[in-house]
Amino acid sequence: MKHPHKTGTSPRKAKKRLWLLCAAAVLLLSLSAVLCLTVFRPQTAALYRRISAFLSVKHDPEYAHYRDPDGKIVIRLDPGHGGSDPGALSPYLGELTESDINYRLSRLLRDELERFGYTVIFTWDENTPPSGQGDYPYQERSAASNADSSTDLYISLHCNSFTDPSVGGSRLYFCPDSSPYNYYLARSIADGVKEVHDDFPALYPMPYESAFYVIKYTKAPSVLLETLFLSNPDDAEKLLSEEWLAKEAEGIARGIRAFLSDR
Ligand SMILES: [Zn+2]
Repeated sequence: MKHPHKTGTSPRKAKKRLWLLCAAAVLLLSLSAVLCLTVFRPQTAALYRRISAFLSVKHDPEYAHYRDPDGKIVIRLDPGHGGSDPGALSPYLGELTESDINYRLSRLLRDELERFGYTVIFTWDENTPPSGQGDYPYQERSAASNADSSTDLYISLHCNSFTDPSVGGSRLYFCPDSSPYNYYLARSIADGVKEVHDDFPALYPMPYESAFYVIKYTKAPSVLLETLFLSNPDDAEKLLSEEWLAKEAEGIARGIRAFLSDR
């Protein structure tokens, strides 16, 4: 007897196909899991941290708003290096050192932040050598911030340097382990800087995860900005321009204000 309408496969074949599909899916999932735990382990860990930070900030009422217990925002600015430690040097800077540029930008940033009504404290005074040796270890900078409960934010300013002069651009670092706010502070500052410079995306400071001492061990929400590369001639030209630095300071301050008013 003919079955003109009978199409497709027998139930036995369909079952076999289903089993094969399931086996392939299990194999694929196992392979992805093995890859995530071995080759892509750092990326997987970073993604996990980012998602958990996102969830904790978004859903934990504790983090719905950035809390300032005394109602007065105190921002600790940390110009990188100083004293006997000049930081990076560059043939494009003349007599100036990285530390000089960091301090120039910090001063401009202080002016912007004070305009918004925030209190600004510097981690070290350019006229007073920070310690007997004339430099100021990062452990002490971080410890001083942690000992002062009024510190609400900690912003460390540096400039980058690399052997290849063609490498340039801005990098913004945050440590996801020390505070769930760090990622949002970094994103907000990056967006603020993006608003003030015309040459987007070259100068957009991409937030990167990092475990630099000052941002890992400082309890207050913190970021470390590597403003531009002293070793790149185009970047160095910008860093030498007071006008460019003032714009950069304005962008950072806008980002900080947005972070503080959003959270
Ligand atoms: Zn530096």
